[in-house]
Amino acid sequence: MFVVHVTPELATVAKVGGLADVVFGLSRELAIRGNHVEIVLPKYASMRYDQIYDLHEVHRDLWVPWYDGAIHCSVYFGFVHDRKCFFIEPHSGDDFFDRPAIYGYPDDVLRYAFFSRAAIEFLWQSGKHPDVIHCHDWQTALLPVYLYEFYQRLGMTHPRVCLTIHNFAHQGVVDGALLRATGLQHPERFHHHDRLGDPRYPGMLNLLKGGIVYSNFVTTVSPRYAFETKDQGQGFGLEGVLHAHQIKYGGVVNGIDYDLWNPEIDRHIPARYGIETIEAKYDDKRALRQRLMLADNEKAIVAFIGRLDPQKGLELVRHAIFYTLERGAQFVLLGSSPDPAINADFWGLKRMLNDSPDCHLEIGFDEDLAHLIYAGADMMLVPSRFEPCGLTQMIALRYGTIPVVRAVGGLADTVFDKDHAARPLHERNGYVFNDYDHAGLESALGRAIACYRDYPDDFRALMRNAMHTDYSWNRPGQDYLNIYDYIRNG
Ligand code: ADP
Repeated sequence: MFVVHVTPELATVAKVGGLADVVFGLSRELAIRGNHVEIVLPKYASMRYDQIYDLHEVHRDLWVPWYDGAIHCSVYFGFVHDRKCFFIEPHSGDDFFDRPAIYGYPDDVLRYAFFSRAAIEFLWQSGKHPDVIHCHDWQTALLPVYLYEFYQRLGMTHPRVCLTIHNFAHQGVVDGALLRATGLQHPERFHHHDRLGDPRYPGMLNLLKGGIVYSNFVTTVSPRYAFETKDQGQGFGLEGVLHAHQIKYGGVVNGIDYDLWNPEIDRHIPARYGIETIEAKYDDKRALRQRLMLADNEKAIVAFIGRLDPQKGLELVRHAIFYTLERGAQFVLLGSSPDPAINADFWGLKRMLNDSPDCHLEIGFDEDLAHLIYAGADMMLVPSRFEPCGLTQMIALRYGTIPVVRAVGGLADTVFDKDHAARPLHERNGYVFNDYDHAGLESALGRAIACYRDYPDDFRALMRNAMHTDYSWNRPGQDYLNIYDYIRNG
């Protein structure tokens, strides 16, 4: 099968969140299974160019329709860790991608509306006939609209489109001026509630909704999140659209890249270990304490790694810090936020706890330290308000670090409570709570800390279960291939 991923992000060159890791991991898995996979993304000025091998120009003259004229683009080809990638570079005064950051500009919707048009124009001009075009999030959700409104008529009848939604919180909502830029004429057609008309803001267009309506299949990143977005009011206004299109909607849990996240071969940690050599994990624990200047004692280490975003349950994270210390364990946090008020809040907390030998808050983004925390901590807290899939808990499992999570989205699909899960004992791998409040959090975190302290053999057995859990790309890879087959033959 010939599959083209059109994406705003790709690890390791242009990463903001989990989406970047998903395209990186899934594209490799599909290729290993004998499919031809290509990736199309913007040529950002801010990319990690040292991670691209053999970057060279392959198309000098791609003209992409925009407003009443066209924008001249060049297309580059290069390998990102063996993945075949095309980078589109527009040459216009807008400087759509020639900016210091990937997102965060007032014209973001226009930038990606343009990128989606450029990507499909590139496929068309270069005579590529993919079986499946796989789009990701609102940034590329206009591609199927362009395909079925413009390119099918030109003869591009072969490709089917799969859209993966990584987070419903971001949808690309914009006013009608978009239609003039993109050449999608007849406003009454596109503003219609059956097409791009936003369900919450009258007169506005919603790119993600357009993607749902026009794609041949829509996935999100866990079955539970698919259910929550469609049936439990978590769709940020798109519940009705998901219902109307439920026959082509489903959830596939992301995989994680075990080449990158594997304590047996991880070059970021001082002591490597596996299920049979789990003792060495405690050397990493000591190294973590040394690096963060924590007391070396018998206590458990509870960690949090993540964006400091309200989605992640920040109020519960804050409560967990004090509760953990009170229960005689240590707490480590690694996180940052683009919101200065949130950062300031956590800096305040850091100053307050500065003298504690059992607590360290690291405000920032640090890949290297993240590896050491996954290896050195005993528990990983993920108390999210909502969580489409979540990678943190899956990475933690691989490192034998016991997840303590709220039962939402992908967390509910991947972590099974040691004491209460309706699962065989050997599949239980963590602690889970339901209610978003202090009592809920304490009910799980308290049990985890007590088990670590009072029943070390049970805790060790739980660590082994965690490390046995397989969240590689193997299964999701097959799930996506089944979806591709289904839409090609449907
Ligand atoms: P989201 O995509 O919502 O940010 P995920 O759990 O899907 O959350 O993915 C988060 C990824 O980013 C994980 O690999 C996590 O280790 C990493 N990460 C998040 N914050 C930081 C940070 N401050 N420093 C290093 N890595 C981080």
